[in-house]
Amino acid sequence: MKKRSFLPFCIGLMNITYVVAQNPADYASSITLQELKEHLYVYASDEFAGRETGTEGEQKAIHFLKDYYQSIGVQGGNNNKTYFQNMVLSTRRGKTLNGTNVLAYIPGSDKKDEVLVITSHLDHIGVEPDGQINNGADDDGSGTVAMMEIAEAFQEAVANGDGPRRSILFLHVSGEEKGLLGSKYYTDHPVYPLKNTVTNLNIDMIGRVDSLHLDQPDYLYLIGSDILSDDLHEVSEAANQAYVQLNLDYRYNDPTTLVWERGRYRENNYYYRSDHYHFIKNNIPAIFYFNGTHADYHAPTDTVEKIDYHLLERRTKLIFHTAWAIANREDRIRLDKKNNVIK
Ligand SMILES: [Zn+2]
Repeated sequence: MKKRSFLPFCIGLMNITYVVAQNPADYASSITLQELKEHLYVYASDEFAGRETGTEGEQKAIHFLKDYYQSIGVQGGNNNKTYFQNMVLSTRRGKTLNGTNVLAYIPGSDKKDEVLVITSHLDHIGVEPDGQINNGADDDGSGTVAMMEIAEAFQEAVANGDGPRRSILFLHVSGEEKGLLGSKYYTDHPVYPLKNTVTNLNIDMIGRVDSLHLDQPDYLYLIGSDILSDDLHEVSEAANQAYVQLNLDYRYNDPTTLVWERGRYRENNYYYRSDHYHFIKNNIPAIFYFNGTHADYHAPTDTVEKIDYHLLERRTKLIFHTAWAIANREDRIRLDKKNNVIK
């Protein structure tokens, strides 16, 4: 893994290092477009065969993630520090599948019992009948590699004595494309009590630009940040203003905003369409990070060379800084609008 530029100073100048290290931007600098790209070129390659739940491709994906977390020294987040939460999942069509969530965990310091859960889905939609592979570089390879880099940045902070006050669970869920099944399973069988789960940051598709932003690509949709908690919204806005300055687009906080999908305008309903849903329905404040859909959505053309890696790096840094603030602030994120789930 990568070195931080100020690391040599640690040896002789502990006090100065302590001051320097308090700045999360030092750790954010370990999140690089080169590493995001390196990870994604493996994760969204043909070798993983579209990562469909219950297939060998998904097995490769879960072992890739486990090996990665072991290599950076982040322990498993399931019981006994294991990485895999094995599940038998039932699809809407009544089919039974074996799926596996991958859990990695950084224990907090003085507020260890409170947990921030960061999610992205590890699965995708597999292979087309004609043999074309859906590599899912954006969906959700982008969220997956973002989480890998965020975990690495926090682990560097841990190594430097700056570990988070609250614990962080890096939860890579299976079965999303079959109907948010892995996140449902986790919240039905939580490893860490849901009442101590302070926030969910869910990352699903953050590597591309949609047709509404071709002229201003430095944007990201944030969905849900103020729906359960004004506090969460303020933390997120402050992190963006201080460190990243992306144009945060909140239009899909309204689930009835129309989007062009499958040949006609439909209500977007994005607030209910990715894994944060199973957290919000349990009154856990959540933000869904999303770039919107594009012509390659759920198509074999969602491939690695179409990802904007500069943008992926900035968006990943935004999520890192937001996670840092949530994990390290004095007060837990306040839930101030309980049961504000519209359907
Ligand atoms: Zn997705």
